[in-house]
Amino acid sequence: MTAPAHERAVSVRHLPTDASMLTRVVFWALQPALLLGVIATWIADPENPALFGLTFLGVHLLLGALEYRIPARPHWRHPATEKLVVLGIAVVSFMVGGAASGLYETHLTAPLDAIRATLHLDLWPHHWPLVPQALLVFFLSEFIWYWIHRAEHRWTPVWRLSGHGAHHAFKRLNAINAGANHPIELFLIVLPAISVDLLFGVGAAAYGAVLLTLVQTAVVHSNLRLNSSVIGWLFTTNAWHIRHHSADLAESNTNYGCAAIIWDRVFGTFGDSAVVEAGVGPREPTTLEKLLMPLREPEGSVIAPTERRITRAP
Ligand SMILES: [Zn+2]
Repeated sequence: MTAPAHERAVSVRHLPTDASMLTRVVFWALQPALLLGVIATWIADPENPALFGLTFLGVHLLLGALEYRIPARPHWRHPATEKLVVLGIAVVSFMVGGAASGLYETHLTAPLDAIRATLHLDLWPHHWPLVPQALLVFFLSEFIWYWIHRAEHRWTPVWRLSGHGAHHAFKRLNAINAGANHPIELFLIVLPAISVDLLFGVGAAAYGAVLLTLVQTAVVHSNLRLNSSVIGWLFTTNAWHIRHHSADLAESNTNYGCAAIIWDRVFGTFGDSAVVEAGVGPREPTTLEKLLMPLREPEGSVIAPTERRITRAP
């Protein structure tokens, strides 16, 4: 007997033979077109915060509309109430991220300037065009994030204190889930780009790298069929990242890069296979349980970095 579609592994990196024209165009063109389009928009006015915000909003509206029209997994489409809850968490997280960035800028600029001066770290290639500079910030930041994220999954205290489990707790992934993080984790999420920016005195190129990261993280959580070849050599795709969100512990301990995949390839944590289901276990924790994850792992969680599986008696 054939298992129901939602219980079978779904590969988002393959097109069904009866795919519509829109599905085919999105599959072949969406991710490279978005990355090139966002870079082209940014470079027109590299430090314009309004353009920055509008570009980000536009990308999410486009992805949300496509997920509604041509979802890779129809059963992962968010019901309206769930979409609102995830959106609310994302907005709070975005605001906390802004506050965390402000705090870091206030308190880290002077010490990192001093470190740069002491160690003669005036190495940043300001004479390069802005796009290669932005790509350099992007891949350096992703290198730092790779190790933070790997530590979250390998060490229980880091998993708990970061609240990273809350991000993994959702059973249905859509682009908006990129922002569905525990608010305390934002203090870690913003750290890589801001430390590269402040340590090397980067300037305008850092904006481009952050925008590229935000767009990439939205695309890689999207519920769409996307091609992974060529672009997937350096940048991660939703096929690789959904595997990281798998409810299977071994699958979830792969693909730690949330925007770039190159560091997983370099450090041997790259994994590729279709995924049956996402989440931390067989059921999705409530919003309160997600918020309490720094203190208490939800019942049935199998993704936390511990040998002890939590199976409380009813
Ligand atoms: Zn993770």
